[in-house]
Amino acid sequence: MFCGEPGRGSEQSICTECFADLPWNEAPVSPTPGIFEASIAMLHYSFPIDVAIKALKFRRKLFFVPAFTEILCAAQPLLPPDIDAVMPVPLHWRRKAMRGFNQAAEFAGPIAKLLGVPVVRNVRRKKATPFQSGLDAAERARNLRSAFVSTRPDPHAHVLIIDDVVTTGATARALAKRLLSCGVTKVSVLAVARAG
Ligand SMILES: [Zn+2]
Repeated sequence: MFCGEPGRGSEQSICTECFADLPWNEAPVSPTPGIFEASIAMLHYSFPIDVAIKALKFRRKLFFVPAFTEILCAAQPLLPPDIDAVMPVPLHWRRKAMRGFNQAAEFAGPIAKLLGVPVVRNVRRKKATPFQSGLDAAERARNLRSAFVSTRPDPHAHVLIIDDVVTTGATARALAKRLLSCGVTKVSVLAVARAG
């Protein structure tokens, strides 16, 4: 995947050396999960993941999707055992139309399958969130406060949010607040990488 060598088997797309060389987070489970039951980021946002995520999102390099889902699936032993649904961070329809896909939704399907739970999508993004880079935490939170709307009550007890890169965590927190306000009891978050 990253070096051109074949993966380790039919289920794997990253070769053994590249998998071992990934910038693994030495403490993937955050000790201060805040609003979340568990907050997990598998990698540091550095080479080659930063390049691969940008290629996926901005140049539609969908062949990276199996590598990212493989990295996320490696989190299974770290996840709380009572997760009963998976939710990708929704993209606003306009951004999704421009990009052609929602990368988090691409990752969510295989994770849900691994856990044996459904993917839920009863929350949508109300407005296209302005570019978040360069904003401080308070500005991001203000930006996101009303960004997510639920389309119906959620009957699930513990929803796992799937994201690509967590920076301040404000997006996932805003989504978690929305889920907790529509009937969900616990929310956890799993991301490919943590930046900063
Ligand atoms: Zn390799």
